[in-house]
Amino acid sequence: MVKCARCPRPAVIKIRYSKMHLCDHHFSEYLVERVKRTMERYDMVGRGDEILIAASGGKDSASLVHMLADLSHEMEYSVIGLHIDLGIGDYSERCSAKAVKLFEEVNIPYIVLDLRRILGHGIPELSRKIRRKACSLCGIVKRYLMNLTANACRASKIATGHTMEDLAQYIIKAFLLQDQEQLSRLKPVTKGRNGLIGRIKPLCEITERETFTYAYVNHLPFTYEECPMFRERTLDAEIRSFIKRMQYERPSIVISLIRRQSEVLADRSAKNLIKCAYCGMPSSTSPCAFCKILIKLGREPEDVINRVYEIAEQMSR
Ligand SMILES: [Zn+2]
Ligand SMILES: [Zn+2]
Repeated sequence: MVKCARCPRPAVIKIRYSKMHLCDHHFSEYLVERVKRTMERYDMVGRGDEILIAASGGKDSASLVHMLADLSHEMEYSVIGLHIDLGIGDYSERCSAKAVKLFEEVNIPYIVLDLRRILGHGIPELSRKIRRKACSLCGIVKRYLMNLTANACRASKIATGHTMEDLAQYIIKAFLLQDQEQLSRLKPVTKGRNGLIGRIKPLCEITERETFTYAYVNHLPFTYEECPMFRERTLDAEIRSFIKRMQYERPSIVISLIRRQSEVLADRSAKNLIKCAYCGMPSSTSPCAFCKILIKLGREPEDVINRVYEIAEQMSR
């Protein structure tokens, strides 16, 4: 049995870059401290911030909700949970149940948006109806609804559970494809402007192995399942396995990629924004990607906006 570096209890994990073994208790303490330092390093939150945390029901966002709620008092910000029920059969039901259970356990106000109530359809029907791949559709819908909900509940930031691997994967892919626009957005923090709420990724220096261990040892409600509609592209899978190998062989190189990238590139996420003529939200195109979906469905943006505002108002604080 390997012992914890800080107490006589058995270790549950070895931290690769510091070569340190830690028990469940000391690992949790250590990880929360690292997330706090990450938030400070990138100046993610300020006193009085109201942070909307997007939770999918998976391990990464479950850990994020738990850690951000834990740090909220000390760092003087408040949090609201958001779960979007994507209407993907039993899978979404299980995800929603876990997310709600988590919000209740950590005792934070929360909002659940059911896509079928908002748009009349879940992702599978939407994908068939407008003939678009489920994953890209899901991305557009989630981004739009997160931003809309943040506006509706007057949140000052949106936090997502992207891990080190997620961010590194997007950066390497955007670099290979030389997508400069996308590259400039791939930072731990993006600033908000004109109704576009700023985003933060507090887990950007935390690995999936760590979020999993954290969620597991803290008995957080989360699902192990992967979305049944997810189809990984070959390029993404290859980049992912490259990152995993790097993390194993040279544990610090992936963190340094994320740090350097955030220093080198200016945040252009709020540049070239225009107002969508349909919904009035900031976008790079008009109609915005979300309104293009609404037009195909024959739905009015006001309908969707009013519904989300109504749900946000009913939130118990
Ligand atoms: Zn210990
Ligand atoms: Zn729009």
